Order: sequence, then C-alpha cells, then structure tokens
Amino acid sequence: MKEAKRILFIAFDHLNGDYGVMKQANPETDVVLLVESARMASVTRFHKDRLFFLLSSARHFAKEQEAKGFQVEYLKASDTAAGITLAKDKYGNLPVLAAQPSSFKQSQQLKAVGVEFVENNFFLTPRELFADWAGAQKTFVMENFYRLQRKRLGLLMDGDKPVGGQWNFDHDNRLPPPKNYSWPERLEHQRDELDLEVLEELGHEPSSTWATTRAGALKQLDHFLDNHLAGFGPYEDAVTDDDWSLHHSLLSPYLNNGLLHASEVVAAVIERFDKGMAPMQSVEGFIRQLIGWREYINGMYWFLGEDYRELNGLQATRKLLPLFTDSSKTKMACVKSAVQDVEKRAWTHHIPRLMILSNLALITGTNPQQFLEWMRTQFIDAAEWVMVPNIIGMGVHADSGRLMTKPYAAGGAYINRMTSHCKGCAYDPKKRVGDDSCPFTTLYWDFLDRHKEEFKKNHRMSQQVNGLTRLSDLTDLRVRAQQVLEGLDSGAV
Ligand SMILES: Cc1cc2nc3c(=O)[nH]c(=O)nc-3n(C[C@H](O)[C@H](O)[C@H](O)COP(=O)(O)OP(=O)(O)OC[C@H]3O[C@@H](n4cnc5c(N)ncnc54)[C@H](O)[C@@H]3O)c2cc1C
Ligand code: SF4
Repeated sequence: MKEAKRILFIAFDHLNGDYGVMKQANPETDVVLLVESARMASVTRFHKDRLFFLLSSARHFAKEQEAKGFQVEYLKASDTAAGITLAKDKYGNLPVLAAQPSSFKQSQQLKAVGVEFVENNFFLTPRELFADWAGAQKTFVMENFYRLQRKRLGLLMDGDKPVGGQWNFDHDNRLPPPKNYSWPERLEHQRDELDLEVLEELGHEPSSTWATTRAGALKQLDHFLDNHLAGFGPYEDAVTDDDWSLHHSLLSPYLNNGLLHASEVVAAVIERFDKGMAPMQSVEGFIRQLIGWREYINGMYWFLGEDYRELNGLQATRKLLPLFTDSSKTKMACVKSAVQDVEKRAWTHHIPRLMILSNLALITGTNPQQFLEWMRTQFIDAAEWVMVPNIIGMGVHADSGRLMTKPYAAGGAYINRMTSHCKGCAYDPKKRVGDDSCPFTTLYWDFLDRHKEEFKKNHRMSQQVNGLTRLSDLTDLRVRAQQVLEGLDSGAV
C-alpha cells in the first residue's frame, strides 16, 4: 500500500498528464482526484453531447492515470467542494493541490476548501504577462497583441519581420462559400465501452463527432493537418449548407478540456508549413486563431475582472427568443441552420456564432446574461473564460465597447454574401420593410435607430448611424421592426 502525501485535484478542463498539477505528479505519493458534481451532471441544463464529452473524457482520463500507477479517486458529489471535502476526510486532511482554475468562480470555490494552486500552464501566455500588456493599452486591439505573440514565441518570423512580409492575410481569407467544391470527409470517432456506459447513464444516443480521449484528440489533429490546414484560410469566414464544418479544425473542445495543448498544435502546424505542405495564407490564419484570439480572450477574461460578465451597457431586456432553444420556431434559414447545428452536435463555427446567433441577440436587444447562459450550456467547447469575453464583449457589445470598439451588428447583406442560406429563405435579404423583408436587415437599421444617440459618440459607428438619414422609409421600418420583434418572441418569424 502506497503512503499518500498529497491530493492532486484535476478539474474537468485540466485533463492532461503533463500540464498543470500533473506536471510534477508522483504515483508513489500522490492521489489523483476528480469530482463529478451533481450540479454539472444535471442533464437538463446542458446539451447532452457536451455533458457526454465532459464526463466521458474525465472518466477516460481517470482510467489512464490509474493505468500509469496513480491511486485515483473519481468521486460523485453534490458539488466540487463537497467532493474535495470527502477526499480530505478519507485521506486524513492531506494538502490538496490544483492548477489555478480557469474561472473566477471555481477559484473561489477551491480556495474556500483550502486548495493550494500551482501555475495554470494550459495557455501559452502567463496571466501576469498578459495583464502587463493589457495594462499598457488604451484600446485592446487583438492585432497588436498577436504581433507581440508572433515575436515573443518566434513563430513565422524572419528576424523581427513577419515571414512573407505581411503580418496578416485576413484580406485574402474572407472568401464566400465556393461553388462545386468537395469538402473532405470528416473523422468519425468510435465509441468504446466507457463511452457507451456514460451514454446510457445520460439516456443519449451515441454520435461519432467528438473524441473523448487524448488518442482521439491527436487523431483529430492529424486529420485536420492532413485534410484541412492547407485550405483553412480562404474559407474560414464562409458558411455553407453543403458542409457544417468546412475546413475548421474541430479542435476547440480538446484544447479547452486539456486533452490537447496549444503548443503541440502550433508546433505541428508550423512543421507542415516548414515542409511546404500548407500555404502561408492558411497557416497564418490558423496560427492567428490560436496564439492570437484564444490567448487574447483568456487574458482579457482575467484582465476585465469578475463583474464583467454581468454588464448590460445597451440595457437589453428581451427574454431569450424561443428559436434559440427550438429551431422549429423560426423561418429564417440562416438562424434555423445554425441552431440545428447546435442541436445536432453542440458546435457551429465562429461566423454563425458571431454574425448569426450573437448578431440576432444583439439587434433584438436580448438580455446578454440569458444569451450567455444559453451558449454556455449548449456548446461543446464552452467555458466561462472563453464565453464571457466572446459574448459580453464581442458578440452583444454589452460592455459598451471595452473589448471591441464597435458592435458586430450586420444586416442581411453580409449574411447573403458569406453564406449560401438566403437563396432558400422565406425572407429577402435586400428588403427592410414588407412582409418578406429580412429580419436581420430590418432589425439592423432599427438597432442603429434605437441606439443612435450613444453610437453617434463613437467615431467608428458614425458612418453607419448617418446611413439612417438616407432611409426614406424609416417610419415604416420602425413599424415592421416591432412586428418582427413580436414575431420572434412568439416563434412565428
Ligand atoms: C460568440 C462567440 C462565442 C464563442 N464561444 C466559444 C467557446 O465557448 N469556446 C471556444 O473555444 N471558442 C469559442 N468561440 C471562438 C470560436 O468560434 C471557436 O473557438 C471555434 O469555432 C471552434 O471551432 P474550431 O476548433 O474548429 O476552430 P478553428 O476555426 O479551427 O480555430 C482554431 C482554434 O482557434 C481558437 N479560437 C479562434 N477564435 C477564438 C476566440 N474568439 N476565442 C477563443 N478561441 C478562439 C480555438 O481554440 C479554435 O479551436 C466563440 C466565438 C464567438 C464569436
Ligand atoms: S434572408 Fe435574412 S433571414 Fe433569410 S437567410 Fe438571408 S439573412 Fe437569414
């Protein structure tokens, strides 16, 4: 019998044998503790794919640590703190260590039961380093942070200049969906006995979209590198009804629960670039997402503080629209398709998240916290640190522009250009009044009209707001906007 000296608490988003508190773990003296909390496992709150993914990944991880010789406690308890207390009672009040948690709330919960923290090295940027950068900025322009990351991490650099002479290829990476294009097959993940056990507990049908082990996550990475990396850039903003994932990597769930580390994904991508297997335009586009956006969002979560999630700068009070929880409650083809994707597999890529779902919440004046709660419970890769800035700041502008200087509001013209949905829709993206006017187009103008006094003060918005003066049908538009909002509330639009 080994003599336990420490308990290492592993949160469900720190499932990695080489990082966090496992970095210096010793099977001779450390007990590995995972707690499945009843609150998290309450089936009604979360999308079942998400719950399945979280639980099955954690149970697989626990089994893998056992196979490595660790004594593992996988406890079910009312909440995390109760589970830790149970383990302390069992092992005689040993010190409990964990990596710094990924949210303010979990930090407080773990501190309250005496957990000591080691560095959270699941990201490429230490929190202090990011805070130093953010503290010195007037506006938090992601591009500036990204360039610093390229230099600091020495990625795609030629001395102090960017390889290829350009920092970003965004301009070339905004193509609409291609015609007659064959998207590569997606990887199907096979279910094992442990997966089936979790699925049965949840009363959920097996699906093959998401891996639940590190081996599966690595296969997904290889599949992306072999089939999608080269084409990633040009169509990264496109949305098509031929294919739900296009060239996106589908790696966010594993990056966020610890099965993959950003450093290994970055290294693998750069290796392909160095071997000439993927063009700069795609490699830069992907690296920007990982070392730029992902790190920036995490850094900003901590920098902006705990109260940021409650902001509601536009005083948006509308209740969550019924179409978010039931795709049959809308005739809008783009929204129906995005919500159906979420219903089917708890995922849709960044443009439907931002320019369809969040845009709709923004221009309908939906309460930011209700929208945040919906997204946080329904997406496979959701986590507090990533959802809060992406939604409160980028998605619905509830922070009055602290993160992004202007709201991402758009009418049907943008969606018509970047997606293939408008052709089959009951509405016409070009129309802003009339029974078949596109709700996005009507509400985009109505949103500007409702907030024109505050937006006039924002020089990046003034051109858009001035556009209102050119509308000869503003009175009719206001009437139509009310009809659309009522129709959305009742699930009839
Ligand atoms: C309103 C909104 C909500 C979002 N919520 C989440 C979320 O809960 N979890 C999440 O991981 N991402 C979120 N994102 C970012 C992005 O949509 C997803 O990371 C991406 O769609 C995941 O699919 P992928 O792995 O195929 O991404 P790819 O397109 O292949 O991109 C590669 C990686 O870049 C990272 N990345 C890119 N953009 C962001 C970003 N804005 N924030 C953080 N990471 C980013 C992700 O790790 C992603 O895996 C959100 C974006 C928006 C606009
Ligand atoms: S017409 Fe409007 S509602 Fe219909 S798909 Fe296009 S943008 Fe969406």
